[in-house]
Amino acid sequence: MDDSKMNELDQASIERERLKSLINSMADGVVATDEKGQILIYNGAAMNILDSNTTIANKPIDSVVKLIDKDSQQVNILQLILSTHTAFSTRDMSILYDDQNIAKVYLSIAPVHLGYGKTGARGYVLLLRDITREKSLEEERDEFVSVASHELRTPITIAEGNVSNALLMVERGDNSDLIKQALKQAYDQIIFLSGLINDLATLSRAERGILTVKVEAINAHDLINNLVNSYQEEAKRKGLQILTEISPNLETLWSSQLYVHEILQNFVTNAIKYTDKGHIVIGAQPKEGGIEFWVQDTGIGISKNDQSRVFAKFYRSEDYRTRKNKGTGLGLYVTMKLAKILSAQINLSSELNQGSKFSIFIPALEQPHQQIHPAVDYRANRV
Ligand code: ADP
Repeated sequence: MDDSKMNELDQASIERERLKSLINSMADGVVATDEKGQILIYNGAAMNILDSNTTIANKPIDSVVKLIDKDSQQVNILQLILSTHTAFSTRDMSILYDDQNIAKVYLSIAPVHLGYGKTGARGYVLLLRDITREKSLEEERDEFVSVASHELRTPITIAEGNVSNALLMVERGDNSDLIKQALKQAYDQIIFLSGLINDLATLSRAERGILTVKVEAINAHDLINNLVNSYQEEAKRKGLQILTEISPNLETLWSSQLYVHEILQNFVTNAIKYTDKGHIVIGAQPKEGGIEFWVQDTGIGISKNDQSRVFAKFYRSEDYRTRKNKGTGLGLYVTMKLAKILSAQINLSSELNQGSKFSIFIPALEQPHQQIHPAVDYRANRV
């Protein structure tokens, strides 16, 4: 072989190596097939996404890629690629694995001419990307928008109806008690809306990871007494008593006063809401590395089934006794988010018709260094 031929061959093999490392460095799975759908080339990412640890070269594509559509119907990938005449892509398919697990994928199929000139042949290049996480975030966002707008619309409609009634009654010179009643109902809905918007704002900050923790010295006695003072009246109106069980051995706790207060406040307002008779106990005791707080009630209780769901976004029990109270189903979800930020653990024990006990262990966080850093910022990236 003469030198120029040798050089050409060297050049060709260098090019090949370059292309190989290029497709191997791609994050997306790449699979190239011949015109009958037999696999010619693939990269490491394709092996990953297809969950294969043996070579897939020379195998028919439909023996290694099992697809299902968004209605869980099987899709024959071979037929799909053979019927592709211009590049096509979809985000509505999933790969079905042997163990019945699935991964949602972005799939693109492009008919190509593989190789150069006369040596080239028709074939297809497939690109596969795992978009399971992206999809679940999209679905969650869509659900959130639809539930949130529904939750907002209902009180606005009621408030609007009552205010327009009140106006009509004023024009007609109606009884002022009726007018007052309509305005009171509108007012209640507006208060409810403002609570909902507050919950949504905290939630959105927690989810975007921008809640910061200002670590301060917390006096658990004062914190609990504060809560008792704030809610005594509301409880009394329902004929409920608020009792306390505060251990005398409590030491100063270093954590976020704001979030610990918000968490306990959520427990206390729920306890009042979901208890018709009896009492509510707010307690605290020292525990290795922190303080355990609890709020116990003698209320309607939470069924075993619901206990695992009450911390989910917008979840409210179907029980009519829950539904007769206003609520957004966001309180405990936000509580759980805040607990995570504080590395705290929540425990729920409850029995239907007997009552519930929500307890939370708040660990002491590192004390801020005086003078230099008056408040330590724990970025909420642990949410
Ligand atoms: P909301 O009270 O606004 O509905 P939460 O997220 O605070 O939302 O609570 C979710 C659900 O958990 C409530 O709707 C209710 O079904 C249940 N729940 C929470 N706390 C109690 C409690 N102390 N007793 C009985 N059920 C409770």
